[in-house]
Amino acid sequence: MTIAVLAVQGAFIEHEKKLEKLGADCIELRKAENLSQHYDGLVLPGGESTVQGKLLKELGMFDTIKSQIESGMPVLATCAGMILLAEELEGGEEGHLQTMPVTVKRNAYGRQLGSFHTEARLEGIGEIPMTFIRAPYVAEVGDGVQILAKAEEKIVAVKYKNQLALAFHPELDENDEIHKVFLKMCER
Ligand code: GLN
Repeated sequence: MTIAVLAVQGAFIEHEKKLEKLGADCIELRKAENLSQHYDGLVLPGGESTVQGKLLKELGMFDTIKSQIESGMPVLATCAGMILLAEELEGGEEGHLQTMPVTVKRNAYGRQLGSFHTEARLEGIGEIPMTFIRAPYVAEVGDGVQILAKAEEKIVAVKYKNQLALAFHPELDENDEIHKVFLKMCER
């Protein structure tokens, strides 16, 4: 199983370590040429969504990644990655890939809660650790979006068709369950 990890900015190495530990091979997407390789799934890591969105365009990767996702490529998107997928961003900021019918609020927990750790139940897995770093949350979901988890009364994990999006950082915790679920999604 080969997983492509977007590696233009942010916390991509942590995802690679986790996926490799679970037996997957990882390739890094750094430029348009990398997109022509075969891969079974795609990871959009945390980081800074504004920078990532801009780099996707500048590096000529934006359209291909968007159409791969729309054609059913399994995606795991964490934090900034979730912001990249959102059809709309609260506050009128322009969206990026816009492949998931959700409205996401960026930097959503206020100053004191900028970064925090908690545990909450995720549908289909159970209680898992959740590390939030200047995290977004999902403010609204559209048709067909499944809510998988809430923390601090906010929606923090959603699934829509082939897309799994999380406001937190499963790659930074010991627990491997999210990545296992994602690798299952990639076995098609
Ligand atoms: N605050 C970042 C953004 O808006 C997301 C933070 C993260 O990915 N940990 O893109």
